[in-house]
Amino acid sequence: MDQLSDITQHLLRFSPDALIVVDAAGCIRFANHTVTELFGYEPEQLLDKPLETLIPERLRGKHVSHLTGFLSRPGNREMGARIADLFARRADGSEFAAGIRLAPFKIGGTLFVAAAIRDNTERQKINEALIAAREDADRANRAKSRFLATASHDLRQPIQTIRLLNAAMLKISRPDLRELLQQQERAIEGMTRMLNALLDISRLESGAIEPQISNVPLTDVLHQLTTEFESVAQARGIAFRIEPAALVVSTDRTLFYQLLQNLVGNALKYTDQGEVSVLCAPGSSALTITVSDSGIGIPADKLDRIFDEYYQVDTQGAKRMGVGLGLAIVKEVARLLGFSVSITSRVGEGTRATVSIPNQYLMAMPAGADVTSTVEPVGGITRRSRVLLVEDNDGVRLATELFLRFEGFHVESAASAAEAEVLFERFQRGDVIVADYHLDGRNTGLELLTRLRQRIGFEVPGVVLSGDLPSVLRSLRSPVPNCRFLSKPVDTAALLDAIDELSAEAGGTLRSAAGGTG
Ligand code: ADP
Repeated sequence: MDQLSDITQHLLRFSPDALIVVDAAGCIRFANHTVTELFGYEPEQLLDKPLETLIPERLRGKHVSHLTGFLSRPGNREMGARIADLFARRADGSEFAAGIRLAPFKIGGTLFVAAAIRDNTERQKINEALIAAREDADRANRAKSRFLATASHDLRQPIQTIRLLNAAMLKISRPDLRELLQQQERAIEGMTRMLNALLDISRLESGAIEPQISNVPLTDVLHQLTTEFESVAQARGIAFRIEPAALVVSTDRTLFYQLLQNLVGNALKYTDQGEVSVLCAPGSSALTITVSDSGIGIPADKLDRIFDEYYQVDTQGAKRMGVGLGLAIVKEVARLLGFSVSITSRVGEGTRATVSIPNQYLMAMPAGADVTSTVEPVGGITRRSRVLLVEDNDGVRLATELFLRFEGFHVESAASAAEAEVLFERFQRGDVIVADYHLDGRNTGLELLTRLRQRIGFEVPGVVLSGDLPSVLRSLRSPVPNCRFLSKPVDTAALLDAIDELSAEAGGTLRSAAGGTG
């Protein structure tokens, strides 16, 4: 018992932290011996002195309001939200970063506050070094993302040229060369996919993408998925099922589509037989969209890494034409949109990706709205028309011109908006304009198209090509009729389809317009 009392006494006098007790008026009523080590005062020198004695002059005003605040709501707590804010003053006037814990107690109805004080200088230095290191890492990461964004964007023009030239050569080459060119085409497609993924992830990570929110009918997005993936599934003998819900999501259309596109793309890529389905299930707090497949599955010990950048599971050598960025993009997009995504899987049985969209982003589809879709694909048209090509990059212009000529189009090409305005004199109904979006400092391809439309008085069909399609689409205030937007490097089949569809639609317009206007 005596020993315990000795220990208590000793602890009180020489505790690892300096201990002081102040009363409600902020007057020091007790100080232990550790105070001497920390502040350079003997404990007796501090008795009945105001607490301000231990506080740097420049901080005294602030301190009074802290103390008043604390006394109005006393409780055990660490002082100051950030340790960098707290400083104490030694007897010689020097200062040190202090860590202070407070504990109030009452004796006979009188309130006291005990404070344990330690020198936090080292801790603060480490903290500052950590903050600086983190800022450095963030800066380096942003620089990496900017570099990737710029490099992958600039690589698009030459790849576009190679792609178009390859397609043109395929058209004219001897049969024995064709297989080589087809292999080359597959390699170019792989390169294009990789570039697109790199550009997407670097833009997302560098914070360059701000979601543009609009009301997006779920059926539209799911229909777009059908249009993109149905034929892929069919070609691979996989059943493809989509069950929508009559809901509208308040979100960024392009990013939302990109998220689902990556999940469905993966489901088809990693499935050899069976089914891929996209099902919607409204719930009490969120809508869940489940993308399920009956594919190769993901080993349980790899599941927590698949959302990492560049991570690919090498299941029996089954790395299939990816770069390992799809799910990293899914994760970033979900974060931006406020959704959550999780994946469960069983090797040999299949994978299920679940996207949860909180109810706050959902609305019921307005009554009478078209639940099937507003995006209707047009197909099976073979009409060849004249093309007015506007492209300021010489290599891309030449390659596009060659490619379109070999496809049987009559092509007139212009290197600038001004040249296009001159060539436009010879424009006839059924002709189609194919224009680069970033034409020159003063014009976009879309502005040129709008100007030509105003000049001729009808909606001239146009295809606008852009290396940064998501931003172009986001910048549109309303849909542009008779216009298709395609990403660069352009998918040659998509370009042909777009021109054929537009020219056929213009033919239809011509007939009805001729009837209407004489
Ligand atoms: P990748 O470009 O390789 O498809 P992702 O980031 O999209 O990259 O996916 C990372 C890895 O997760 C893939 O390489 C693949 O091994 C695995 N994976 C993703 N989705 C599926 C799926 N539906 N079925 C099986 N494996 C999948």
